[in-house]
Amino acid sequence: MDRTKVDQIIHEVVAKYFRKPLIVAGNWKMNMTVREGLDFLEKLGSTEGNVLIFPPYTTLAVLAPEMKKRGILYGPQNFHYEDSGAFTGEISIPMIRELGCSFLLAGHSERRGYYNETDEALGKKVAKGIRSGFQVMLCIGESLEERRSGQWQRRLTEQIALDLRKLEKEELDSVLIAYEPIWAIGTGVSASLEEINETHSFLKMTMREMFGRDLPLLYGGSVNEKNAQEIGSCPYVDGFLIGGASLKPEKFRKIIEVSRGV
Ligand code: PEP
Repeated sequence: MDRTKVDQIIHEVVAKYFRKPLIVAGNWKMNMTVREGLDFLEKLGSTEGNVLIFPPYTTLAVLAPEMKKRGILYGPQNFHYEDSGAFTGEISIPMIRELGCSFLLAGHSERRGYYNETDEALGKKVAKGIRSGFQVMLCIGESLEERRSGQWQRRLTEQIALDLRKLEKEELDSVLIAYEPIWAIGTGVSASLEEINETHSFLKMTMREMFGRDLPLLYGGSVNEKNAQEIGSCPYVDGFLIGGASLKPEKFRKIIEVSRGV
């Protein structure tokens, strides 16, 4: 048996028997008014760690104390790498810090796709966020074309290498990766368990080769209260990043419950 295979088996055993509770993260995107957000939190009730939400900017200040009260960690869906200046429509780290955020979301495929967010800019953002004391959840993912043409491994490796290129080794402690195949986001059809297993094990391996260690790796793409159990049972899945199902308190709560029992 070659060394890669042995390494993979060891990590599978470790992943299976020494699992931490799964992380459950909700990305509300451009949904939820302040009133709707308050209503959501009221219905969701309290949680115990490992739950985080990325609400829209306009709701953050009002929802922050309510999330804190319920044990939910939170942060914005995007941020700028400069502290202030002529960047119309952007928000900065000092603004976010004031609201008690501890997490930042970076590189979501909708930002990469609709707003031309580049790996060049993401390298600066990730470094800025981490050096400012935040945990950064970096989203990576391939298009359907890249998946079908066998380019997915190259694309995912490139995103990790470029977006984390400015970090020192110890700064990697503050990074989480969310693997989100673009073709599974918002479609109602998640990647298959086989695809998730194959991709997550590839990514864990790649990170070990690149950094000498792996980083927490979440799966995102049509996770819901029905498929969370089986996706969460995949040995290399450390949690979920959830769009649609994070907007319904009863669905989100169900996923939180599932995450505790996996
Ligand atoms: C997302 O956009 O991060 C996402 C995973 O969305 P959905 O769960 O709706 O596919």
